[in-house]
Amino acid sequence: MIDVQALSKKFGDNLVLSDITTSIQKGEVVAIIGPSGSGKSTFLRCLNLLETPSSGSIEINGKNLTASKKEIHKIRQQIGMVFQHFHLFPHMTVLENLMYAPMKAKGIKKYDAEGKARQLLERVGLAQKADAYPNSLSGGQKQRVAIARALAMEPELMLFDEPTSALDPEMVKEVLEVMKDLAKSGMTMVVVTHEMGFAREVADRVLFLDHGALVEEGEPESFFKHPASERARDFLDKVL
Ligand code: ADP
Ligand code: MG
Repeated sequence: MIDVQALSKKFGDNLVLSDITTSIQKGEVVAIIGPSGSGKSTFLRCLNLLETPSSGSIEINGKNLTASKKEIHKIRQQIGMVFQHFHLFPHMTVLENLMYAPMKAKGIKKYDAEGKARQLLERVGLAQKADAYPNSLSGGQKQRVAIARALAMEPELMLFDEPTSALDPEMVKEVLEVMKDLAKSGMTMVVVTHEMGFAREVADRVLFLDHGALVEEGEPESFFKHPASERARDFLDKVL
């Protein structure tokens, strides 16, 4: 589904991603881990065209992301993104947050958008919060709304950038549970995370980045038990 070839990204003279080649299959859950500043967010943002690669190529469903603007718009609609800091629309209710993009960007009728939105709120356990405003919600609830909002566009691929890092510890689990359900439903997911338990349990594959390089990738079981590289061993020693 995603094919990344020799992807590099520079900010000025700073080489932030260096020659990354990997591919991600439909239905796969991939966890990206690595130290702070290793390029995890930049990699994710390249997949969503929030950043333009300096060199290399990214194909999603056979379409090169350096395609025309119109194509890019289309491809982007198929990708949902969830950030550390929720980014909900504060002046809209929870329901309106979920209805906005499908109506605006896809021309879905209000009645249908609302039906879908209520269904998704049910799915993330927040049906009773439909008419609440984001600032009245807990962090965990906000993040579940953000996930539901991304799903309202019916994406083929979901990107998560440290979705639980800004949460109080007691709220991490409720968000991870929603992500776990999503993974079980067959969604293709790329998740930047510091939750090693989640990576180990839910991911099909782990990518370890360090200093912009894809140092190691493998199945969680073998990666966590027997990391091949010194750098991955060092990292795991610090976080586990
Ligand atoms: P991570 O998510 O692994 O912590 P990032 O992808 O955010 O790492 O950042 C990798 C490197 O790229 C860091 O050195 C960061 O300072 C730099 N960087 C990220 N975004 C920008 C930007 N927009 N402009 C300049 N430098 C950036
Ligand atoms: Mg980051």
